[in-house]
Amino acid sequence: MANKVSEEYGSLVFNDSVMQERLPKPTYKELSHVIKEGKTLDLDIANEVAHAMKEWALEKGATHFTHWFQPLTGITSEKHDSFITPKADGSTLMTFSGKELIQGEPDASSFPSGGLRATFEARGYTAWDPTSPAFIKDEVLCIPTAFISYTGEALDKKTPLLRSMVALDKQSKRVLALFGKTPTKVTTTIGPEQEYFLIKEEDFSARPDLILCGRTLFGCEPAKGQELEEHYFGAIRPTVNEFMKELDDELWKLGVPAKTKHNEVAPCQHELAPIFEEGSVAIDNNLLTMEKMKLIASHHGLTCLEHEKPFDYVNGSGKHDNWSVSADGKNLLDPSATPEENLQFLVFLTCVIAAVDNHQDLMRVSVASAGNDHRLGANEAPPAIISIFLGDDLAAVVDALINGKAYASHSRNKMDLGVPQLADVTQDTTDRNRTSPFAFTGNKFEFRMCGSQQNLSDPNMVLNTAVSEMLDEFATKLEKVKECDRVSESLAWIKKTLTAHQRIIFNGNGYSDEWPAEAAKRGLLNMRTTPDALPCLIKKENVDLFAKYGVLNEAEVNARYVSKAEQYAKLLNIEAGTMVYMTRHMYLPALFDYSGDIATTVATKAEIGVEAKAEKALVAELTAGIDTISDAVADLESRNDEAKAIADCKEQDDTYRDSVIPAMDHLREAVDAMEKICGHDYWPVPSYNKMLFYV
Ligand code: ADP
Ligand code: MG
Repeated sequence: MANKVSEEYGSLVFNDSVMQERLPKPTYKELSHVIKEGKTLDLDIANEVAHAMKEWALEKGATHFTHWFQPLTGITSEKHDSFITPKADGSTLMTFSGKELIQGEPDASSFPSGGLRATFEARGYTAWDPTSPAFIKDEVLCIPTAFISYTGEALDKKTPLLRSMVALDKQSKRVLALFGKTPTKVTTTIGPEQEYFLIKEEDFSARPDLILCGRTLFGCEPAKGQELEEHYFGAIRPTVNEFMKELDDELWKLGVPAKTKHNEVAPCQHELAPIFEEGSVAIDNNLLTMEKMKLIASHHGLTCLEHEKPFDYVNGSGKHDNWSVSADGKNLLDPSATPEENLQFLVFLTCVIAAVDNHQDLMRVSVASAGNDHRLGANEAPPAIISIFLGDDLAAVVDALINGKAYASHSRNKMDLGVPQLADVTQDTTDRNRTSPFAFTGNKFEFRMCGSQQNLSDPNMVLNTAVSEMLDEFATKLEKVKECDRVSESLAWIKKTLTAHQRIIFNGNGYSDEWPAEAAKRGLLNMRTTPDALPCLIKKENVDLFAKYGVLNEAEVNARYVSKAEQYAKLLNIEAGTMVYMTRHMYLPALFDYSGDIATTVATKAEIGVEAKAEKALVAELTAGIDTISDAVADLESRNDEAKAIADCKEQDDTYRDSVIPAMDHLREAVDAMEKICGHDYWPVPSYNKMLFYV
């Protein structure tokens, strides 16, 4: 029986069922080939699709269309064009052509390009991505697109992601062919779990740091934190519940499969998890979710904070990237498949393990940002060291394979690998090691280092490319082997590869003090900050890797490096500037007032012969604090000026890390110390106590 949800689900999406209903049969068939098999699209088909799309959108009340894309900032961009084509008689037609559907030309000069596109050659094109369905948002028909330069270089996050999915499709098919399988399409599946904070809008708008930077740059420790562990999965407050209900409704209309919602560990922190979808669609939908969260929060007097670290003293927010590979809908990382498929599962598993070990540096870079630096390694999120958690059962299987024990007695039977443990693996999915950055959770991997506000395209692009490389290695080797020897050769390859990459497997506590030392002994990388990690992107072997699989050419890799490096410095410059502004315009004046008023009291009391000991001491303490703050703010200002003037982006980032951030910390410490003793009515911004524990 249909209910409201099932009626409205996907009602704003030009999805498969709408296409079936509205497109002529041959057109629908052609388009399906384009979507499912990556065939090239021709203009006649595009014209017919555009017409159907427009008619559908007009019926749904749309007036405009937009090419919706993801520039290197990671967030989405759109420019709205109306459907109108005025006629001579003063009325208007509503038109939308195939050309307008497949290609757009936004004025691209103001998007970061990392130097790829000189401003004089401002042209950039958006190109329809038919694999991600069009949808209607606020009366605008949104067409998901890739964003490329005049000369064909990727200027966005989506293009390399799609290219990496093509690489994975190709290499997976070669491997599957060795197992006698010929799927139409191999793709990744992604389920992004999104964490976020909700605070009162009135508190948000009273804090320039939240408005300008998305995180608090000041604030002394609240009397209460998350130590009572009462928030996680706790009852959801009514306002938040109303927000979540509206959010679900809106997302469902957009066909976003929002599934699970709950409170997270920190006060005011929550999570939304959708049901997994095909890679690029899941990422589009995550971006839509983030946009809707912000918008809908404002309907409830709330503000949604998506920053990785809005508040010190409590947990920050991440985004878990649940990732798997699927061949025509069949999960290739599902070990519960029949024993005949164990070998195939082991090949894919081995490829992922080796890929992550080979490219720890790229995995780390893919989640590096100024915001995420506050989480990784801060004992609340996985450390900055990449390692893989397999769980006891699978780890035992891997051990057995490496030591060559378990399957030895079964060598007669080609397919029965004699790895009986495999059958039990799915029963052990409850064993969740939350401290691991990259964990096997039953039938998928979960990459937990991603930041809450980041676009998941980067980590997935890296993972897809790195895994493609290993699948390629396996296929290239095994394609040369006679069919009768393939099982034994596969096992030999698995053994050799797992042995070589064993160091990346770590099932212990990633938050422990011993782990970094142990990881160093194993030769694993530990890049704590963004400036430490970023230069890895342009190492020759990484440039070669992306080029080999057609994901990014050298110019595109360089552009991404420059853009990320610049973004880091720009963000820190804004944070430093905001701190200086708040200190000079808000905190110091408040402290002058407060200490001045008490000093007046002290003087008045002295006139009538009363010695105000406590007040006097307080004035002295406040005055000393004011001096410390004045020095600290001047110091920060000059260090930031120095950093800002540096032309070389690596040197600039390093200076922000080594000189500006410590000065920011020092200033914060000085201001927070005064917040502790300043009168409540004088303090110019809401405190952590008020923001995090509202009623
Ligand atoms: P958790 O305990 O981490 O919340 P869940 O089993 O609830 O784990 O899954 C979390 C996310 O993983 C969900 O978004 C879910 O859709 C996604 N997920 C499940 N299976 C897959 C898969 N095969 N590929 C990608 N994501 C998946
Ligand atoms: Mg999870």
